Amino acid sequence: MGNAKLEVLGFEVPISLFSAYHDDGFVQDVYEHTRNLNRFYGTSPNIVLQEIVDKTFKDKVKGSCRVGRGILRKHVHIYYLDLGNDYENIEIRAHEETHALSKFGRLDLLENALRAEQGVDISLDSLDPEIVACLGELYALNKRHLFPHGISRDGVNINRIKASRLYHQKKMQEPAP
Ligand SMILES: [Zn+2]
Repeated sequence: MGNAKLEVLGFEVPISLFSAYHDDGFVQDVYEHTRNLNRFYGTSPNIVLQEIVDKTFKDKVKGSCRVGRGILRKHVHIYYLDLGNDYENIEIRAHEETHALSKFGRLDLLENALRAEQGVDISLDSLDPEIVACLGELYALNKRHLFPHGISRDGVNINRIKASRLYHQKKMQEPAP
């Protein structure tokens, strides 16, 4: 067993010997990094197809979480652009870390932290993975008292809006004084 350190979420996740976590950090171009990883781990028809999709959205993609299959282990990689400010950098990194957490099968850690630290009681397992990743963003931002303003440079992000609505719906009432 080792630990995967998810820096922005602040979780140390115990992972099996057959898994590895790689935070590749800032990259110049998310799509190119994905392509390099795919070359390294080997391509399959699915990957080639995914690359076509990614290329189409090349300018919109700010980060990614990919799993590469090694001979013995599965390698979970996250990587993201430097967006030039703490707010967005925390947001995108928390998003990708949450995808990684999900790939390690440990969304319970986020679920517990949301409940214990922020009074938000949400069951994550049945939600769309993109909404879960946006809840990870909200967790990381609120943890730092960076209050999500819901505005992003590419305008409306529907998953973020859904996550934010859910976050506020599920926030337990403050106990009466
Ligand atoms: Zn995502």
